Amino acid sequence: MAMKPSKFLFPALLGGSLLLVVLLVAATWYLIFVPARTLAHRIIFWFAVSLLACVALLAASGFLGMVLTLAAARTCEPLQAPTRVAINTFFPVILALGRLLGISTDNIRRSFIEVNNQLVRARRVKVLPHELLLLVPHCLQCSECPHKITVHVGNCRRCGRCAIGELLALKDRYGFNMGVATGGTLARKYVRMFRPRAIVAVACERDLSSGILDTNPIPVLGVVNERPHGPCFNTNVSLAQVEGAIFSFLPVGARRAEG
Ligand code: SF4
Ligand code: SF4
Repeated sequence: MAMKPSKFLFPALLGGSLLLVVLLVAATWYLIFVPARTLAHRIIFWFAVSLLACVALLAASGFLGMVLTLAAARTCEPLQAPTRVAINTFFPVILALGRLLGISTDNIRRSFIEVNNQLVRARRVKVLPHELLLLVPHCLQCSECPHKITVHVGNCRRCGRCAIGELLALKDRYGFNMGVATGGTLARKYVRMFRPRAIVAVACERDLSSGILDTNPIPVLGVVNERPHGPCFNTNVSLAQVEGAIFSFLPVGARRAEG
C-alpha cells in the first residue's frame, strides 16, 4: 500500500514556488540597475519585474488563503478566488519543483487532493441530491462484465462482482446522479449533461487531480481508487469514503435513508 503523503506537502511546494518567483523578481530587479543597460533593456526588465511581481502576489495570496483555510477549517472569503487561481496556475510548477526535489508525482497529487478536499469541506457547500453528481471511472467495472455501463449506468445488473452495484445502491438511497466515465471527455459530457452544483469524483491520483482542476469552480470532493491489480484494471473504492463525501454535500434532511 502506498505511504500516505502529508497534507502539508502541497502547500509547502506552493510556498517553494512562491520563493522561486520572488528570487526571479529580485534577479530581474538587479538586472535593471546594471550600468551597461540601454534604456530599451531597462524598460523590458521593468515590464518583466512588474509581471513577475503580479505572479508573486497571486501566489502569496493563494498560499495565505490555503494556509488560513486549512488552519481555521473555514473559508477565508476574500482569498477564495486567488487561492483557486494560484492552485490552477502553479500546479505544473509545483509538480516540476517536486520532481526536481525527487518527490513522487503521485504523492504530490495525493497531497493536493487532500488539501482540495479540506478546502471544499471548509466551504460547507450543501446541495440537493439532484444537484450532486458521482463520477466514477470505468476501471471500477469488473473486466469480464459484458454490460455497457458507460453508455448508461442502469445497465449494471448489480451482480456483486465489482463496486458499481453498491454505488448504484447508494445512488438509489440518496437520489444523486451518477456517471461512469472512460476519461476526461466523457466526464466533461456528464458535467454538461447533469449541470451539478457539486461533484464527488473517484479516480486515480492523476485523473482526479486533473479533473478537480478542470471542473473548477464546481466544488469536487475526490476519493482515490484502490488498485490491487495495478492501474486501470479491476480497481476498487472505499464505499465508506464515497458515502462520507456524499454526506458532506447533502443537507441532513436530504439524506433520505440516513440511519
Ligand atoms: S456489478 Fe454491475 S458492472 Fe459490476 S460486474 Fe456486476 S453487472 Fe457488471
Ligand atoms: S486507474 Fe486512473 S487512469 Fe486508469 S482507468 Fe482508472 S482512473 Fe483512469
